[in-house]
Formats: sequence, structure tokens, C-alpha cells
Amino acid sequence: MASERVILYGVGRRCRRFLREYPGCENSVLFAVDKDAGDEGISSFSFAVYKPEVLNSGKYYDIPVVITVADPQTVHDIQKVLVNYGVSENRIITPKAWIADCLENGTVYLKPKAVRLDICSLCQLNCRDCYMRISPAQTIGSGLVTVSQFCTFLDENPFIRRVELSNSGEPFIHPHLHEILAEAEKRNIEITIDNGTNFNYVTDEVLSSLVNGTVKKIRVSIDGASQDVYSVYRRNGNFEQVITNIRRLNALKRKYGTVYPQLIWQYVLMKHNLCDIEKAEELAKELGMIMEFKESWNVKEASAVREILQEKAAEGNGGNHLPKQQNNVHISDNSVFYCEMLIHSPQINWDGRLLGCCNVYRSDWGLNVFENGFLNCINSPIYLKTCASLLRNGNPLPNTPCEKCTLWNPKTKRLDI
Ligand code: SF4
Repeated sequence: MASERVILYGVGRRCRRFLREYPGCENSVLFAVDKDAGDEGISSFSFAVYKPEVLNSGKYYDIPVVITVADPQTVHDIQKVLVNYGVSENRIITPKAWIADCLENGTVYLKPKAVRLDICSLCQLNCRDCYMRISPAQTIGSGLVTVSQFCTFLDENPFIRRVELSNSGEPFIHPHLHEILAEAEKRNIEITIDNGTNFNYVTDEVLSSLVNGTVKKIRVSIDGASQDVYSVYRRNGNFEQVITNIRRLNALKRKYGTVYPQLIWQYVLMKHNLCDIEKAEELAKELGMIMEFKESWNVKEASAVREILQEKAAEGNGGNHLPKQQNNVHISDNSVFYCEMLIHSPQINWDGRLLGCCNVYRSDWGLNVFENGFLNCINSPIYLKTCASLLRNGNPLPNTPCEKCTLWNPKTKRLDI
């Protein structure tokens, strides 16, 4: 429905968020209706807002109506009211369909507040299933974002307020991490290291810059509670050193009375480390860390673990200390969140290549953020069209990194707005 104008139903918080997060979408709005609107249609938006009864006049039957409220029951009730007004059901569209249309016809452009910039793809470990070490098809390469590239990127894109620094390597071995964090602090940028760190190495200088409030969250990958178990997967890793580093950080957090960075203990479940779970949970508690279990990327490993957990649960014994299966917050599902990055926090490789999401490591979008500009890259027609297609739960477009994605499954409806 190229360039078709819509009527919004509801101008509450959710609607205002759409207007804020999808610049340009207001240009596709003919007018809005809201039960709290005044009689004259006067509003603080760039379009008029009337009472819903205006739709009863029959004049607007052909204009699509977007119900912006979130509560499913309220949506259902509004749909009934609209049908009673004579609006046909196929003219009532979801916010996702509206934004997808806007992305496709160029009404909306992307301007996210968050980004994922992999500052270091190098790593000192040799983890068993890491794609950086075992995949001959990986195209990430080895390298670092320089301090000057980091500063230029932030200065050219001052709307960015949050940067995730980790992706394919170990951010704490970046020799200039301290300066990168200082530049982020200067610009009041929130930093997360939430994709993960092995945290085997951290300098005193960096530790002290972790407690000034700039770094909000650190996810430490620790798949065991003893050196023997930990090092089966984290080869070259030193369990005691990781725990010592966390204690050093905690001592500084106490000294400066700060809750940041929040610390996550990420435990990838594997056959060999199920025996250490109870011990790890106790230690995580002692260290003030939030425990999060995760399925392995290794499909065979993940399904073997699932079987063991199911058997334990069925036996009803010996499984009390094991994390419970899906639908329980304990185990995070590998299939969620990734597509959302395309829109809300695009992934950039250390050399500036646009990856889109952190699941992309065998190709890229053929666009370089450092050379072509961040906004130009994420607003290229092919990128926007792919976002629109995924929002509609359609297939990823050909000749894009999403084309061969093994995670994409329309049934899970992972890309939301
Ligand atoms: S389809 Fe796959 S590659 Fe594309 S954004 Fe989603 S998870 Fe990432």
C-alpha cells in the first residue's frame, strides 16, 4: 500500500513511542482519534486528533486504521467498535504492518539510540565451539576499533546514547579500552558489555573506569564452577583468575558505593558442566551476580542437555538444582531478540562493516559505517526492505545476510516494534 495514509486509533504512550522511534511515520498519518480528544481536533502532534465518533461518518471507510494500544482485550474491543462504525476488518491494520509499510515506501527512516560496535574481535582463549575459531566461513576477521574511530563514530552520530562493545572477541584485551570508556563517559554514553566477556584479563586502570557509572552491565561467560569443568569449553581460560577479577571489581563497586555495572553470570549448559550448576549458583549469589543459563549454540550439545534435563525432571529426583526447561526464565532461548537488533541496535563489525545483527558472521550488508556513514547504511533500501519483510514475518530477502539465517522462523515472530 505504497504511501497510503492511515488513521491512528489512540495517541497514548505507545503511540508516542512509535512517533519517537520511527522518525517520519507521522507523515503517513491523516489524523488520529482518541477517546480523550477535544472537539476541535487540536493536538500537540503534527496531525489533528478527534474523538473516535468521527469515524462513524462513513467518510473514512477506505482509510486504514492502526490501533496503537497494546492490551489485546482493548484492541479487540476497539475492533468491534470500528466494525460497528462500518470500517471493514481488512482496513484495520497492526502497528507492525503500518511501520513495515512506512519502511518500504520510504516514509520512515531508522535512527536508533543504541548500537553494537564490536571493539575487538581478538581473543586469548580457544573456546571449543567458537565460530571465530572453528568456522572456515567466518568473515569477521581480526582487529580493533581505534580510539579515534570510536570518537568519530560517536561525534558523527550524536543521537546514539548506548553502545554495546562486545561481540566476536574479548573486549577487555583491547589495549585502549580505558581510553574508549573515558571517551564514552565524556559524551555521557551508556556502555554495556552484554554480549559477553570471558573476563580472564582486566587491568587496574580499566577496573577503575568500570565503576564510574558509564558501564551499566557486564555479562561474564563462566561455564563451570571449577577449573576442570570450566576449561573443558573455555580452553586456555583460568577459572580462579575470572573469579578474582570479579572480586576486584566488586571491591571497587563497594568502595564507590555503586550498583553499576550490573554483573551477569552466563552459564552455557553443556553435558559436562551440569554437575557444577549448584556450586555455580551459590558462588554467583556470593558475588552478587545474576545467574542466567543459556542453551549451547552447538545443536547436538543443546539437544543432549535438553534430554538430560527432561529425564531428571521426569524422574523427579536429582533435578532440583538443575535449571528448569523452557518457559522458565532460567534458560534463555537462542532464537529470541536477534532480528530486533536490525532496527533497535544494529551490529557493526570492528572494521566498520554493517552486520545488522550479532548472529551474522559469514557475510555483511556490503556497507561500511565508517566509510559511508551509519545512517546512510541502515537506511539503504535493501536494509529497510529486509526490516519490513521480517516485521511482516515474511522471508528474509535474497542477497542479504539474513537470507541463509538458521535462526529466522516466522512462527516465533521475533521482530517487533
Ligand atoms: S534473520 Fe537472522 S541474520 Fe537476519 S536479523 Fe534475524 S537473526 Fe539476524
